[in-house]
Amino acid sequence: MPAFSIITRPMISIYDQQGLEALRSRTAVQPHRFKLFRNAFFKKGLGKEGALAVLPGAARSVFGREVGFQCLELSGRRDSETDGATKLGFQTLDGHLIESVILRVKTGRTALCISSQVGCVCKCGFCATGQLGFSRNLTYGEILDQVAQANRLLRAEGRTVRNVVLMGMGEPFQNLENVFQSLEVLQDATCFNLAGMRLMVSTVGIPDAMVQCAERFPCVQLALSLHSARQQVREKLMPLARKYNLDALHEAMAVIGRSRKVMVEYLMLEGVNDGDEDFQALENYLRDIPVHINIIPFNEFEGCGLKGTPHLARKAFADRLKDAGFNVTLRYSLGSDIAAACGQLVRRRMREGFA
Ligand code: SF4
Repeated sequence: MPAFSIITRPMISIYDQQGLEALRSRTAVQPHRFKLFRNAFFKKGLGKEGALAVLPGAARSVFGREVGFQCLELSGRRDSETDGATKLGFQTLDGHLIESVILRVKTGRTALCISSQVGCVCKCGFCATGQLGFSRNLTYGEILDQVAQANRLLRAEGRTVRNVVLMGMGEPFQNLENVFQSLEVLQDATCFNLAGMRLMVSTVGIPDAMVQCAERFPCVQLALSLHSARQQVREKLMPLARKYNLDALHEAMAVIGRSRKVMVEYLMLEGVNDGDEDFQALENYLRDIPVHINIIPFNEFEGCGLKGTPHLARKAFADRLKDAGFNVTLRYSLGSDIAAACGQLVRRRMREGFA
């Protein structure tokens, strides 16, 4: 496990907008200089040295001394040999492991999947993170630092993070305030400046929080991990479904659907949710809601006891949905050779370590 000598506890986090503004005022940095400083750090991915370089000499040393420029340490990476995925492992100041995944999509776009919690309390049967247990929520600085550090790595490739998806470790709506604060900073024109439509929050389905998010962030996309429109099947796959049942979720989706489409994620599991009865239930459940359905392959992992539906059967299921009038995308898997699915790398790393 790497030593933590290069990071000291920050007095003011680079992600603390009020604290930074107070420091700017105290050091009499002109607003246009401060803008260049933030631009260098957040948009250009120049890191600490690059951002400090645009400040006047006296302020440079104060900022260098009093601002904490990172709250995670990059502790490892795995690059896929078969596609454009890179899994990043980070360590928090208190020694927890989390992970993010860079996805270099064929269109040239670069997306980043980030974590919102250390582990997860939800224990979904198809998810490696669910088997790790829950340690704590990530702070908004730790959520944002995944984006800033990925941008710094991508700079060498002439790329920048264009889309951010909260679909890594954790259920984002169990860490509502930190996630909302992160969304504010990601959209802030003086910080990451990412349009809301480039951001997505993925949830296993907490109806009140979904509606709250849709109201506060009208442009941010919402993805619901539905995976079954049969209550019993859903409860078996996702214990949280006992608390938030399909009727409650349907009501929330109907409210959100008045102003936008809801992304519906459907992970296809052989013999679990890919039969005729499953298709009929899904069609009936989503019939009156504007949705886009993503049919997703399953990244199997040791001990999960589940198998993914073969490609041809997934395609047939997707085609039936299209014929029924739905917008459907048949997703392919990125990074299966680097254990890119949620929680798999941390699980593997806990067992065998990685460099
Ligand atoms: S799928 Fe998401 S909500 Fe479910 S256990 Fe994994 S991280 Fe948690």
